[in-house]
Amino acid sequence: MQQPRILIIYTGGTIGMIEDVETKALRPFDFTHLMENVPKVKMLDYEIDNIQFHPPIDSSDMNIGHWQDITRSIADNYNDYDGFVVLHGTDTMAYTASALSFMLGNLSKPVIITGSQLPIGEVRTDGEENLITALQIAAARTPSGTPVVREVAILFENYLWRGNRSTKRSADNFNAFKSNNYPELAKIGLGISFHTDSLRKISEEKALEPHYAMDNKVMALDLFPGLDFHVFRHLLATPDIKGIVLRTYGTGNGPTESWFIDALRETIDRGVVILNVTQCVNGGIRPNRYIAGDLLTAAGVIPGYDITFEAALTKMMHLFGLGMSASEVREALCRPIAGEMTIDYD
Ligand code: ASP
Repeated sequence: MQQPRILIIYTGGTIGMIEDVETKALRPFDFTHLMENVPKVKMLDYEIDNIQFHPPIDSSDMNIGHWQDITRSIADNYNDYDGFVVLHGTDTMAYTASALSFMLGNLSKPVIITGSQLPIGEVRTDGEENLITALQIAAARTPSGTPVVREVAILFENYLWRGNRSTKRSADNFNAFKSNNYPELAKIGLGISFHTDSLRKISEEKALEPHYAMDNKVMALDLFPGLDFHVFRHLLATPDIKGIVLRTYGTGNGPTESWFIDALRETIDRGVVILNVTQCVNGGIRPNRYIAGDLLTAAGVIPGYDITFEAALTKMMHLFGLGMSASEVREALCRPIAGEMTIDYD
């Protein structure tokens, strides 16, 4: 088989950071420094090229323009490489993974996102192992020569997760990510053990269809006991907002009082799309389980089932970015686009 060709897209993040001499705070640094600290990469018999952000960023600065840059880097080079590795800070990695899964339409090659908790220059860094494993996963082939991974995925320490199912779960554990509602795509131990059943299947290979437009006229709203009526109404009336991700309790419940339900109904009648997502780390919306959830559905709030918050927000941005009307977005939110949710609830 031909030598694998992999394109690394370096956006920044802790993996490539160095300590500022004066402040001792970590700041993004360039890709040459990063690669100098991973000489083992040369032991992989791959052809590796790179594209880097100028300047590299802390992922807290990630925005739609950066997602478009990553999408463009992949789309422009799609036919020349077998796989793509995106080096990224951990803070917003799950948002980027979710966004890319919607922006890269018809994706059938691996896009593996990784980073690290400790900078690559530190003795105990997790960056070296993560980078090498991500490259190996991006290069992995089935016996018939097709890519093993054909989706956007996050590789971190011992696991490969579906990108749009992942959430950052720890600020200091090396296993920083988890997909709470979907099994791992691979377990990394002595070897890389792929879980074929969980990996995304491609029924028909089509040309990549990049979707660049993302509409950021969306917002999130968290419920909590004691939420003030006026504050709630004020937030729902935020000018120009097209979509709201409403983070509710448990299986999708909220107050049953009329001020709450009426405010939601009026907002939906105004043409704003409201998607119900649970505050729980695991499980999802079961719209008809409790009257408290039933009332929300009856008011027109759309159940997000087991979608993550990160995927919910970026999916809305993507759907409005496609130029869909509110009713088209409402309908599209009920169906998975890139394996981001399972509708097996009653
Ligand atoms: N603040 C860093 C970032 O997200 C954290 C990390 O990379 O782990 O860029």
